[in-house]
Formats: sequence, C-alpha cells, structure tokens
Amino acid sequence: MLALNEQRLEDLEKTLKDLGQASFRGRQLFEYFHKQLGKDLDTCSTLPKSLRENLGDLPLKSVDIAHTFASKKDQTKKFLFRLEDQRLIEGVLMKNNYGYSQCISTQVGCRMGCHFCASTKNGLVRNLSPYEMLGQIYETTRRYGKIHSIILMGSGEPLDNLENVLIFMDILNSPLGYPMSYRNMTLSTCGLVPGILQLAHQDRKVNLALSLHSPFQKIREGMMPIAKRYDLKEIFQALDQYTDQLGRRVSYEYTLIDGVNNREEDLEELKKLLKNRLHHLNLIPLNPIDEYGEDRPERAKVLYFKKRCEDMGLNVTIRREQGGDINASCGQLRQKFEEEEGL
Ligand code: SF4
Repeated sequence: MLALNEQRLEDLEKTLKDLGQASFRGRQLFEYFHKQLGKDLDTCSTLPKSLRENLGDLPLKSVDIAHTFASKKDQTKKFLFRLEDQRLIEGVLMKNNYGYSQCISTQVGCRMGCHFCASTKNGLVRNLSPYEMLGQIYETTRRYGKIHSIILMGSGEPLDNLENVLIFMDILNSPLGYPMSYRNMTLSTCGLVPGILQLAHQDRKVNLALSLHSPFQKIREGMMPIAKRYDLKEIFQALDQYTDQLGRRVSYEYTLIDGVNNREEDLEELKKLLKNRLHHLNLIPLNPIDEYGEDRPERAKVLYFKKRCEDMGLNVTIRREQGGDINASCGQLRQKFEEEEGL
C-alpha cells in the first residue's frame, strides 16, 4: 500500500472512507500534503485531533535535502536528496526568466547502461515511490519558492517506473494539490517503446523527450545498450503515434560527441529523421565522465553543427550550460557521496 502522502485524491478518499470517515476528510488531507506541503499530521489543523491520532499509525514518506551545491557562475543549484533508507538521489534546480525548472530523479541508479552516464555505473538499486519524486519538488519549493516546470531526467529511466511516475504526475497536476500542469512536465526516455505507446494512448498532455544521440542504429547501439532492444524504426513509429494522438511535438536530446555524432552524415540523417516530424532538437555538448573516453567538441564545432541544422530547416537549440562548476552532469555527485558513505 502506498503511504498516505503519495495516494491519488480518489485513493486517499477511499482510504479515509475505509476508516469510517467522510470523503471530504480525504480531500482535506490531500490539500494538506500537496497544497500546503505539510509533513507532520500534528500540524494538520483542518482534521480533528482524534482522526489525526487514528491516522498516526499509517505510514508517511519523507525526503530530505542532504547536501546543496550552489554554482558560483549562475543561479543553478544541485541537491543530494536523502531517502528513508539512506539512499541518495540527485536533483538540479535551474533559474530561468520564466521561473524555476527542476530536474527530477525517478529511480535510485538505472539499469539502462548508457555509456556516457554515471547514474548507471552500479545498475538499478530501486524504483522511487511517488512521494520520493514529489518530495524532491516540495523540499526545493519550501526553500526557494514555487517550481514552474520539471523534467524527469535525473537518475533513472522514467518509463521503467511508469506506474509510480503516473501517480506522481497526477498528484502534482491535481487542482487541489501543488498544482503543476501536465504541460509543464517533461519526461525524458532512452526509448522504451512499450512505455512510449502507453503514454501515447492516455490523455495526460505531458511533454516527451527522446535521448536520441545518434541517427544511426549501430552508433546508437554502441552508446546505449537499450537501443539493441528497441531500434530507431520502432521508436519513431511509437513517437509518431504519440504525436498523432496527443498533437504534441517530441524533443530530441542530442549529446554532441566529437567525431562520433557531429559529422556530415549525421546531419544528413538527422534531416531525414526529423524534417517532416513535429520536433525540437536539443544539442548538449558532452559533459565527460571518467569512464567514458570520448571528447566534447570545441565550441566552434557545436555552433557549426547548430547552424547546419538550422539551414536544413530543423528546429534546434543548444542547451544552456548551467552549473558547470558543480559537477552537474547525471549521477556523478551521488556516486561520489555513496562511495564515501559505503552505500
Ligand atoms: S542516461 Fe538516463 S536512461 Fe541512460 S543510464 Fe543515464 S539515467 Fe539511465
């Protein structure tokens, strides 16, 4: 059973009903957890004391900020969140002109094995529960104010934990909760086709981003082992269904690696893949990790690649580098601290 503070409104109402309470008590409790960001039932003054004592035996989940790293170059902050089993997960908070956006983890570790990513080095430890995702947002909100948008791109593959991710998104979107619109949520996947299809055939209008990284099947397989299971043809068929059903464009994350995916043939193939699809191509110069021996292209090469994409009619941006001085790439901080703590 999910903890009280990670149940959808209708499930929480049912939990309270099963305890012999009117359903509006479930609503009050939901608002306390997700609108007021309450953590301790003792401070939930809308509920009678006798009911609070009754509920005291049912579990609540918690997430704490264990470490904060503030960039000296910009307003980016990186966090290590501590879970109840002492595991650590990472998150990044970025300040934009429209407000804060936050990168959220969905699993402790990851089993997808992308060669350029530190989060996967020790495999998957476990899935995060819905509150362990909500708590990342609530804790930063308490300190810095409302978060405008989120991207599920921290450690973990969101579609590998889709059931909990959907509960998390539903609670976050609820008008009685935080609330954050589905449209301000972006789910980034390495290409799990069954999950993409599941997203295509439901009505939450969340944004979808694919970690593309190469338009060539063989090169992609060399970077991302999961590509051997779902090839590009199958992935694009699923993405087309997502666009057809929900009318939404797909974002393509493209980590630029010198000599690997920034060649002329990559440009030509990208054009074939994206030109006639609703798309946004996001170029990310490689943030090297020790175990991955490839190089980031020089700035001039990054700009050239972008210009060529524009000339071909692609909708392209270079991701603004934020928090470059705080080791902000995926998984590196968590790995360092967990090693120090012997986890
Ligand atoms: S890039 Fe994402 S999917 Fe790939 S290993 Fe890292 S966390 Fe997992």
